[in-house]
Amino acid sequence: MRILIIALAALAVFAAPSPARAGTGFELTWPVDGRVTRAFDSPESPYGAGHRGVDVVTTGGTVVVAAASGRVLFSGRVAGRGTVSVDHGNGWRTTYQPVSPWVPEGATVAAGDVLGRLLPGHCAATCLHWGLTDGETYLDPTGYLAMPVIRLLPRGSVPEPLPTLPAAVVSGTPVAGRVTSPFGMRRHPVTGVVKLHDGVDYAAACGTPVVAPSAGVVVSASFDGAYGYRVRIDHGGGVVMGYAHLQGLTVRAGASLDAGAALGTVGSTGLSTGCHLHWMAWRDGTLINPATLA
Ligand SMILES: [Zn+2]
Ligand SMILES: [Zn+2]
Repeated sequence: MRILIIALAALAVFAAPSPARAGTGFELTWPVDGRVTRAFDSPESPYGAGHRGVDVVTTGGTVVVAAASGRVLFSGRVAGRGTVSVDHGNGWRTTYQPVSPWVPEGATVAAGDVLGRLLPGHCAATCLHWGLTDGETYLDPTGYLAMPVIRLLPRGSVPEPLPTLPAAVVSGTPVAGRVTSPFGMRRHPVTGVVKLHDGVDYAAACGTPVVAPSAGVVVSASFDGAYGYRVRIDHGGGVVMGYAHLQGLTVRAGASLDAGAALGTVGSTGLSTGCHLHWMAWRDGTLINPATLA
């Protein structure tokens, strides 16, 4: 009984206040799976010291999602730090750092849509600095969470650091088939224009399973114009790969896939002359030849 009372007292101490303004209708969800390790500390003056956001240490993956629906206002670097900020309308804006952005400026996002990949550097353990502003005023985003916050870590304690992401190791190709068009400059078979062929084409019958060549987290699964149905997977170590012209979508953004797990089937959606897989890769956001990883 005494233990229970102590536990309840501890929860009472660490339960964060909930200053959500009644009637604003503005509600946020967690941008990462985690817990707050450094609380919001409102600055006394616009340029004064303080902590203009909360630090959330991740206990799950490293994908950062939009805390509410809105439009991507900024996607790039601020003072060298990868930053995404989302405009939620009525002056509300959330900011996420340090993040390797995966969304272009102007993109419309729903709550839970992937914004990018969390980078190390803000805390000893990998953590997200999450900010909320209402016009010029900095606010505590945890005060607007749909679910109440219970901070289980005593202030000042250092959480267990996350294991570092493994380097991407490609143990094979994503589909059994022969290469029909390598990465590089070529005349496009549909448009006739000479430009970079930004992936490797594998000929395979429609319906042939496409598998993740290494483990990773799905960062997007959507219809992407000329690429048709495309899945992009963050394989760790700064490597993201894309799988285009799929028949449809069978995985969702945020899903974790083991090496060899099916991510879709070969199709001919988008700008395509026949059933094939268009395999793409990026290292630290720069397009590379996926064949150099295999
Ligand atoms: Zn911070
Ligand atoms: Zn191609």
